Amino acid sequence: DGVRLERVREYVWEIPREGEMRVPARVLASEALLEQIGDDRTLQQLKNATQLPGMTKHALCMPDGHQGYGFPVGGVGATDTEHGCISPGAVGYDINCGVRMMRTNLSYDDLQGKEEELVDELFRAIPSGLGGGGVVESGLDTVKSVLERGVDWALEAGYAVEDDLLHCEDEGRRPDADADAVSEKAKNRGKKQLGSLGSGNHFLEVQRVTDVFRSDVADAYGLAEDQIVVLIHCGSRGLGHQVCNDYLRKIEKRHGDLLAQLPDRELAAAPAGSELAESYYRAMCAAINFAWVNRQLVMHRTREVFERVFGRDWEAMEMHLLYDVAHNIAKKEVHDVDGDERELYVHRKGATRAFPAGHPEVPKAYRDVGQPVIIPGSMGAGSYVLRGGEESLSLSFGSTAHGAGRVMSRTRAKKEYWGETVQSELRDQNRIYVKAQSGATVAEEAPGVYKDVDEVVRVSDALGIGDKVARTYPVCNIKG
Ligand code: 5GP
Ligand code: MN
Ligand code: MN
Repeated sequence: DGVRLERVREYVWEIPREGEMRVPARVLASEALLEQIGDDRTLQQLKNATQLPGMTKHALCMPDGHQGYGFPVGGVGATDTEHGCISPGAVGYDINCGVRMMRTNLSYDDLQGKEEELVDELFRAIPSGLGGGGVVESGLDTVKSVLERGVDWALEAGYAVEDDLLHCEDEGRRPDADADAVSEKAKNRGKKQLGSLGSGNHFLEVQRVTDVFRSDVADAYGLAEDQIVVLIHCGSRGLGHQVCNDYLRKIEKRHGDLLAQLPDRELAAAPAGSELAESYYRAMCAAINFAWVNRQLVMHRTREVFERVFGRDWEAMEMHLLYDVAHNIAKKEVHDVDGDERELYVHRKGATRAFPAGHPEVPKAYRDVGQPVIIPGSMGAGSYVLRGGEESLSLSFGSTAHGAGRVMSRTRAKKEYWGETVQSELRDQNRIYVKAQSGATVAEEAPGVYKDVDEVVRVSDALGIGDKVARTYPVCNIKG
C-alpha cells in the first residue's frame, strides 16, 4: 500500500512522521521479512498506532509482524501513563497469551518408541479445543482467587512448587489485579476453562534441543543438546477475550471524543488517568494471572503424564520450569526516554519482553545472563530460546519477536492444505507426531502458514535485542 519506508540502518526501517502522526514508526526486519510484512495491512496499522495519545519514541513492529485487530501482531507501543492512553486492541484479545518451557533430564533416546504413547496420553489428559473443560473444575470463588493471586493460588492448592514461581515472569502474579474489575460473564467463561489449551494456534509440544549457540547462557538455563523439553503455548481463554471485549465496548462509548480522532475504531483507547484506563488495567492484570495459572495447570498435568509414561517421579526427571513469558500484555514500566526516566504503558502484542542482564525485573535466577525469551516456530520447524539482548532497551523498549508470525490467513490455509496429509507427512518425513481436535486446525497451522523463524531470530540476534541461545525441534505436538 501507500506507506513510505526509509532505511535507517541494517534491519531498521522508519515510517517518517507526517500528518497526524505523533512520532515516527519503525520496523525491525530484514528485506526478506519486510516483503512479507508489507503484504497485508501491518504497515498501515503501525502508522495508525503512532496517533495514539502519549505514544513515545516510535511505534514498533518486530521481525515477525503481521496485521491484527487494529494494532499489528508483533507490535510494541509505549504510551505515557500520565498524558497518554491504554488501548485494549494493542494488548490483544488473548490477554497474556504466552509460552512456558519446561526442562527435563530425558534425552531424545529415552523417547524413542514412546512418541505415540506420549502424544496420545497428553492429548487425553490435557483439555483442548473450543469450549469448556479444564484441569480444575472451579466455581466463582476459585476464579476470583486465581484472578487476584495468580500462581500463588496454584501453590497453595498443590498445583505448583515454589521453584515454579521463581521461574515465571513476575513470579506468576501481577499485584494490580482486581477481580471486581472483571465482569461476571468473563468469570463464568473462565470457571469452565481453568487448565486448558484452547484451540487453533495453541499447543503443547515435546521438543528436543538440536543446537546450542551460547553455551554459557545455555548452561545457566539448564539446556544442552539432545535434551527433551516441553513448550506450552496458551492464554487466558474465554475469560481474557471477554475482558478485552467488555472494555473495548465501554471505552468506545465513554471515550467517543478520542475515538473520533483516531484513524481506526479498533484502536479505541482510554485516556491515562481516566476511570476506564484504571479499571481496564486492573482487569487485564487479573486476566494475566488467570493465564499464568492456566499454563501452570497444563504443566502440572504434563508432569503427571510423563510420570505415567516413564514410570518415574517428575522430580526425578527434573521437570523444572525454565521460564514463562507473556506475549500479549501491557505493563507499566520505567524506561529511559532521551535521558528522562518515564513511566510508560508498554503494550506488547505478539511481542516478548527481552530484558538484558542486570535489569532489576529479570528474575534473580537469570539476572546475571538476561531473561529467557521463548520463540516458537511451527509444528514442522524449530523453535528458539533467546536471552534478552543489550540493545533491547534502546531499540525496542526491551522487546523482541514472539514467533515466526503468520504469512497466510486461516481461510487460505484451509484451501491450500489438508490436515491429514500435513499430519502424515510430518510423521513419515520428519518423525513428528501431531494430534489435534480437528483436521482443519492442522491445516490452519501447517508449517507453511508461518514465516521463516530462523530468519526472524537471526534478525533479533543481529540487532542485539534477543540473542540466540538454543534451538529445538518438535518430537510430538498436541493442538486444540
Ligand atoms: P500466536 O501467539 O501469534 O498465535 O503464535 C505464536 C507463534 O507460535 C506463531 O507466530 C508461530 O510461529 C508459532 N506456532 C504456531 N503453532 C505452532 C506449533 O504447533 N509449534 C510451534 N513450535 N510453534 C507454533
Ligand atoms: Mn493466544
Ligand atoms: Mn500466543
